[in-house]
Amino acid sequence: MDAKTILGQLEKKSGWISDTLHELVQQESPSEDRQAVNSAMALVEHCALEQGARVKRHKQREFGDILELRFGPSRSSRKPVLLLGHLDTVWPIGTLKKMPWREANGRYWGPGVLDMKAGVVMALAALSTLREMESSRPVTLLLNSDEEVGSPISRATTERLALESASVLVLEPAQGLAYKTARKGVGHYHVEVTGVGAHSGVDFEKGHSAVLELAKLIQTISGFTNLERKLTANCGVVAGGTRSNVVASQAWTEVDVRIAKASDAAYVAKLFRSLKVSDPHCKLTVTGGINRPPMERKSGTIALFKKARTIAAELGFVLEEAATGGGSDGNFTAALGVPTLDGMGAVGDGAHAAHESVVIEHLVPRTALLAAMIASAE
Ligand SMILES: [Zn+2]
Repeated sequence: MDAKTILGQLEKKSGWISDTLHELVQQESPSEDRQAVNSAMALVEHCALEQGARVKRHKQREFGDILELRFGPSRSSRKPVLLLGHLDTVWPIGTLKKMPWREANGRYWGPGVLDMKAGVVMALAALSTLREMESSRPVTLLLNSDEEVGSPISRATTERLALESASVLVLEPAQGLAYKTARKGVGHYHVEVTGVGAHSGVDFEKGHSAVLELAKLIQTISGFTNLERKLTANCGVVAGGTRSNVVASQAWTEVDVRIAKASDAAYVAKLFRSLKVSDPHCKLTVTGGINRPPMERKSGTIALFKKARTIAAELGFVLEEAATGGGSDGNFTAALGVPTLDGMGAVGDGAHAAHESVVIEHLVPRTALLAAMIASAE
């Protein structure tokens, strides 16, 4: 299927893309609000049904549902292509008041527009075009509601569907203009010290400060960072103590860990196991681990990227590849050995930030590239 023909078809859909994206951004959908995410999901489900998709909704209690949409023939000798996305955002209900949907400076603005409501709309537009062009390629579009909180519920479904698929295309935003061929793995640790509380004036000697011990531990943990190894440990949150005139009995830190190599997961675990308090009256508790394995730049992913670069050239633009420190559901599928290409959603800026926006002129060409990648998948 010719990429230029696909582009021609998609150019007629730019109004539909804009209207649908507007509607989807208007339905706020923070991960924590199950009903709100489900309302956004209902909008997408409605569009998909109109396109003849077979719908399976995996009901969830803690977070919003997981939406599994099947396009193309129900029986095929070819494995499906899996498109991965999420409908939750990091933005609480009411954000639209401060960050309303608007079109300005060649961009659409609004909470979740880039990460990743535009990616979801692009997938729907790509699939409707392929249907019009009578593509026989089976496709699964999987949308979850818990990606922004680490995909605790949806991970198993994502992994199961990835294993039955030929390849995985992830609808997360591009990195600048580039597709993502590598992502760091993400870990989280909670490090807590229990000391002995005391009045700092009356009984200072009887106290054993959890805050002091934690301060030393933060030095040690921060020292785990090795930039050459692309390993970072960030004590991003600290808390402890109750008042200045009390020797603190409790203190803790939340640590974000990033690794570039899968084998570093065990190394990081060993580092955290080696932590010790220097004051024997204090007690240390460490919980956590690597949540998302890294997406390493492997041959299957490189082959997908090369194909994307060729199609992009046919469409008249240069496609670069990039690595990122951020994680996505692509980390899970890549770690299973399923060829995974990420960053195939919108081009823009400010994911998780007040200037979140999508560049309009890239929407249609990138959607054409996505559609052509689906159509030409092995
Ligand atoms: Zn995202």
